[in-house]
Amino acid sequence: MTIAANLGYPRIGPRRELKTALEAFWAGRTGEADLQSTAAALRAGARALQQGSGISHVPSADFALYDHVLETACAFGLIPRGYGWGGEGPASLATLFALARGARGSEAARAAGIPGDAVPLEMTKWFDTNYHYMVPRLSAATRPRLVDNRWARALREGMQHGVRTRPVLLGPVSLLLLSKAEDGTRPLDLLPALLPAYADALRFLAEAGATWVQIDEPCLVTDLPAGAAEAYRTAFRALADAAPGLDLMLATYFEGLRDNLPLATSLPVAGLHVDLVRAPGQLAAVLEAWKRDRWLSLGLVDGRNVWRTDLRQALGQVQQAQQAGFARRLMVAPSCSLLHVPHSLAMETALDPALARRLAFANEKLKEVAALARAADEGEKAVASAFADSDRALAEARADARLHDPAVAAHLAGVTPAMERRASPYAQRAVTQQSRLNLPDLPVTAIGSWPQTAEVRTLRARLARGEIGQAAHDEAMRALIADSVRWQDEVGVDVPVHGEFERNDMVKHFAEQLAGYAFTKHGWVQSYGSRCVAPPIIWADVSRPAPMTVRWSAFAQSLTARPMKGMLTGPVTMLQWSFPRTDIARDVVCRQIALAIREEVADLEAAGIPIIQIDEPAFREGLPLRQADRADYLRWAVACFRLSASAVRDETQIHTHMCYSEFNDIIDSIAAMDADVISIETARSDMDLLEAFAAFDYPNAIGPGVWDIHAPRVPGAEEMVRLAQRAAQRIPRGRLWLNPDCGCKTRGWAEVKPAMENLVAAARRLRAEA
Ligand code: GLN
Ligand code: ZN
Repeated sequence: MTIAANLGYPRIGPRRELKTALEAFWAGRTGEADLQSTAAALRAGARALQQGSGISHVPSADFALYDHVLETACAFGLIPRGYGWGGEGPASLATLFALARGARGSEAARAAGIPGDAVPLEMTKWFDTNYHYMVPRLSAATRPRLVDNRWARALREGMQHGVRTRPVLLGPVSLLLLSKAEDGTRPLDLLPALLPAYADALRFLAEAGATWVQIDEPCLVTDLPAGAAEAYRTAFRALADAAPGLDLMLATYFEGLRDNLPLATSLPVAGLHVDLVRAPGQLAAVLEAWKRDRWLSLGLVDGRNVWRTDLRQALGQVQQAQQAGFARRLMVAPSCSLLHVPHSLAMETALDPALARRLAFANEKLKEVAALARAADEGEKAVASAFADSDRALAEARADARLHDPAVAAHLAGVTPAMERRASPYAQRAVTQQSRLNLPDLPVTAIGSWPQTAEVRTLRARLARGEIGQAAHDEAMRALIADSVRWQDEVGVDVPVHGEFERNDMVKHFAEQLAGYAFTKHGWVQSYGSRCVAPPIIWADVSRPAPMTVRWSAFAQSLTARPMKGMLTGPVTMLQWSFPRTDIARDVVCRQIALAIREEVADLEAAGIPIIQIDEPAFREGLPLRQADRADYLRWAVACFRLSASAVRDETQIHTHMCYSEFNDIIDSIAAMDADVISIETARSDMDLLEAFAAFDYPNAIGPGVWDIHAPRVPGAEEMVRLAQRAAQRIPRGRLWLNPDCGCKTRGWAEVKPAMENLVAAARRLRAEA
């Protein structure tokens, strides 16, 4: 019997119930019991839905109130000092949320005796997804042990409702590799101490009646650091010994196993899950290497994107596995946890029906998994209507003329290498630009957005609801822009920005004005904690029917003699923060977007905007997981940025912006982007991030952030002077700008105004001293 399995279910809730419950709890409007009962209801709903969809291996403990990595670390006692944990028993919610969000201003933290200056753990991207996890902080003082039996509890909860679930544990090696040690301790050194805690968790699961347990080891698809292979062998020997009666499913996802395949298949587990969506090519090697007396779980339904599965093709892969001798020990599953896709298509009543037929969100994907498992045993006739739907969606997509725009194809075919190059080298452009712009030493600018106040958001919401017309909305927007430009002139911001008041989101705002994009109403995907994003869907060729930002920027420029900076989102970020189509290559989608942005850049120049910023905060996160794939990505990503930026004359200055990012290993690509000015987030690193630029002799201008806009505080001028001086030790002053770390949309005017005043004062002081 082929088993239909799932690896993880979205936890935010079909209507973002968890978000609402968390935020009410944090605001002190509800208590712990309310939060826990919402969470329990979401888990019960998820179990029932998965079971009802025909999934036999329903995951449990995949749920987390904030983040599964954080909760795993807490359950194993990997909790740093200073967060109110007494060292025994489960961490309280006050501790959990102080680790996740810091203690500042939290009544619960104060009541739990957590110091008000407790800072949150570092947060970073979960592999190459847009989900962020909290990085566990380890030290030599860390004493791992099982302090919260969350897996057995999750199993029992399911059993009480008649479902024997498959508890999911983030595996010990991935957990450590994803952690950071403070005091020079190597995270993997903690493995011997951590394994008994995992063994305890497994023993409790066996006692509680578990049969299968899923151990997630996504690090197995990455380039492993020294010592990791040995760590895997040690760890899985210990796990296998801990509870011989349990069947362990070793889950790998987000890439192929490649050179780690021999390692993975050497581990003593009952089953191996492989991602055949990201890496379909690994099937043959896996079938060759994996043992016939073990279970093989085929990740055939895309857990990372919103498209319906080609069931016929997937069934072909199932049959290949059957013929290779796995017929009696086969599972069918999504490629990875469904955490990364929205809940359900059922609520998307406004989508184009032909497009909707091609989509599958989490709930629809589970039905695909079940249909495939059944077809594996009984043939496709047993699930004829599922196959018919899949065939029809594919045939319709192939025949849909709207997917291909001949004008876009012609436009792409006409791209020449010269179009990816500015007319003159940077040094020459810099002179031309300075004679036009006449900027002072250490020019002061901002990253784009000014506060998105309640007033601003209400305006957009009222337009969306039809309560006000476009004209009234635009007039109000113009008033906001006029205020902001007047204020920036008064303060003395050398290169002002219009403020992005009209934008709901830096990707969606452009996507809504481009052809080829579609939008969901409830397509929320957890980004971190209670934060969700609803990525737009790129379903057809992308083009720009009309100018997108010109009227706002031109209006802003008309109000000031200073050079106004136009503000666009770059092609790589537009791609990275969307669900892209898969019928054409990713880099081709990106080039289409680049051409659309290029047209906007040209129109801004023609409208007299002398400086244009093309934001690429997602540039680094597009990097493939494997080193070997990176050069190819960087080549096309740089080319797309350059294509978008190079339509302008020398005298027009191109900026780009990237948020907190490591630059060391991609600095040559950053330089190859050839933006005249790049602004980056550096305040929190005390300018250390500039080292990469200094070591590389980065040739163009840089605006290091001197104000950490993520913290709700106003930095003084002296502080910013000091940061600027540190920057000037690394980058020649003639190529330095001063600016905040990022856009100010999440801050209030009460902080922004004094902080920008201090920033200008800092620049003036430095100029006077020069
Ligand atoms: N221009 C954008 C803003 O200021 C940039 C946002 C970002 O870097 N994520 O809001
Ligand atoms: Zn930013």
